[in-house]
Amino acid sequence: MNYINEMTIRFKSLSVNEGFARSAVSAFCVGINPSLDDIIDIKTAVSEAVTNCVVHAYPNKIGEIEIWVGLTKDAVFLSIKDWGVGIDDLKIAREPFFTTKPDEDRAGMGFTVMESFMDGLEVLHNPEGGIEVKMKKKIFKKSMEQCKIND
Ligand code: ATP
Ligand code: MG
Repeated sequence: MNYINEMTIRFKSLSVNEGFARSAVSAFCVGINPSLDDIIDIKTAVSEAVTNCVVHAYPNKIGEIEIWVGLTKDAVFLSIKDWGVGIDDLKIAREPFFTTKPDEDRAGMGFTVMESFMDGLEVLHNPEGGIEVKMKKKIFKKSMEQCKIND
């Protein structure tokens, strides 16, 4: 894939970094002129994936989270990776309402939200331990005529 721009950020699995990750990714995506709706969807998906790393990947310690973003002229590609405890059965983990932390008010809807807000979701075992979440979002560009009528 020929990306017109790419970036990688790596940070500690602190919950304060959820907001940072969301803002950093959305600021980077502005380069390809996404709609506000697209930005909101991407931010929501990034929040869910990063929260999962903070809450599940590193339950009793602080670990590392890495986000890679690749831009084409009409799509955003994302990878969110951790080196934590990992997931035994990826298929079950992705089912709606499946959670291993019901006692902590988790709804088991994170992967379902990522899947419905984005245009592609893959959850993979990280060969170095932990998991990698890959996502794609197609960017809907308004035509100049639509801009004139709606803006
Ligand atoms: P919610 O996202 O609604 O607060 P949740 O985090 O439990 O609840 P999902 O995000 O769908 O729901 O994740 C489902 C399950 O997959 C989790 O309960 C957890 O067991 C596992 N999981 C998700 N992400 C990771 C991760 N990065 N490392 C280890 N396990 C994970
Ligand atoms: Mg979750």
